[in-house]
Amino acid sequence: MKLVLAMMKHETNTFSPVPTPLARFMPQADDGRSDADRYAGTNSALGAYIDLARERGVEFTVALAAEANPSGPVDAQAYDGMVGAIRDAVAAGCDAVLLDLHGAMVAQTSDDGEGDLLEAIRAIAPKVPIGVTLDLHTNLSAKMVANCTVMAGYKTYPHVDIARIGRRVGEIVLDTLTGRVRPVMAWANIPVLAATLRMGTDDEPMRELQAMTVAAEAEGCLAATLFGGFPLADIHEAGVSAVVVADGDPARAQSTVDALLAAAQRSRHELLYRAEPLQASVARAKALAGAPAPDGAPADGPVILLDHADNCASGGTQDVMTVVAEVIRQELHDVAVGAICDPQAVREMQAAGEGAEVEIMLGGKADMPSIGRRGVPLAVRGTVRALTDGRFQITGPMGTGRWMEMGPTAVLDTGSVRFVVISRHQEPFDLGMFRSVGIEPTRMRFLLLKSRIHFRAGFKPIARHIVQCQGEGVTSSDMSLFQFEKVRRPILPLDGD
Ligand SMILES: [Zn+2]
Repeated sequence: MKLVLAMMKHETNTFSPVPTPLARFMPQADDGRSDADRYAGTNSALGAYIDLARERGVEFTVALAAEANPSGPVDAQAYDGMVGAIRDAVAAGCDAVLLDLHGAMVAQTSDDGEGDLLEAIRAIAPKVPIGVTLDLHTNLSAKMVANCTVMAGYKTYPHVDIARIGRRVGEIVLDTLTGRVRPVMAWANIPVLAATLRMGTDDEPMRELQAMTVAAEAEGCLAATLFGGFPLADIHEAGVSAVVVADGDPARAQSTVDALLAAAQRSRHELLYRAEPLQASVARAKALAGAPAPDGAPADGPVILLDHADNCASGGTQDVMTVVAEVIRQELHDVAVGAICDPQAVREMQAAGEGAEVEIMLGGKADMPSIGRRGVPLAVRGTVRALTDGRFQITGPMGTGRWMEMGPTAVLDTGSVRFVVISRHQEPFDLGMFRSVGIEPTRMRFLLLKSRIHFRAGFKPIARHIVQCQGEGVTSSDMSLFQFEKVRRPILPLDGD
């Protein structure tokens, strides 16, 4: 028996000005290991497939291991090259295909990156079982479901159960090969562009909705998934959906999908986001630094300010300075910022050297034409505190064991604010972003994080309070900023209820 394994992951923000060439998918540092050895034992779906194949003594090949931080549509050449690598491996012959996909890939030549990939594989291997593990932020399409055998998505956000879901998909496909199960799938979507900020699975309504998927599996479904979707994608199928895999029982798959989506539809208003003005949020954070911790939070941890409209893990440029400027204007002290992506600023600090006093124009390098904003840098004077290669191994629960690559990195210390300045987009979800550059996050009074929900994986346990700050950027939760042309209409919140 032989398996073809592949990872091709990208969450495409069609409003993002950040380009997505092939280089964005490739590891920055080649440590000489094979893809199989690099991903084995990690909390990833590809890692789970590799571990499962090795445990069962099944031969496998890794056709592709490509993942990139969210950004604009994938370059046509990059997309064709990645699809071609997977297609060629399948064409060489295999008994099953296991894919680690995001489920929200848009290429310059395809609005449905995963659907077109799966259709291409099906065309050359019509009888081979295909299993797919997807992100909770998948925009599901009919083409995706029609061209695979089994699919399941993460049930957690932050995504801490990735390997568990990947293993489940792998097991169902192996059981299909031996005739133990006969998977059948049903799917549907509802007209809701849910806000990512409202999809955290510690919070309602997602906690209850995900509990329903767990219950459906306990009652005998092979896999039940409710996707929150990814709203910053102007494609027809963007939004909330569900897919259920049942064992030889299409009616059961369909009735489970219907029950999940009926519950999501009832919760639709809770899935939308309402922001407070930025000035009020920063003032609230400042006041909370002197307030007692709520139940369950550490008594002396930092107050976290979330700059969620510029989250690089949703396509943000990670260099918008709006929230930083307001924090400085309101004179917050003892702040660490994670992180500003500005390779030019890093080069300037490298040239000046550690310990040097510098004045630089920080951030604001990227324009954001989709929301009619130009990049606005902030003049910052301070001391260069650290210069590193930006690599650290993740110790927290999300992506445990994998290496984070921030690119050349520098710390700029103004006395009140310490900026981690990086050269490669990386969302702060692991304490290593600060510790690897000599900042102890638990000792700071404030942490300003460019993140939305994933920061919770590493930072929620140390946070005394968390304040969402609506700045500017292409990952804003204010959907009225964006011009949607292709998404199915009517849809919430663009068209009212
Ligand atoms: Zn996601």
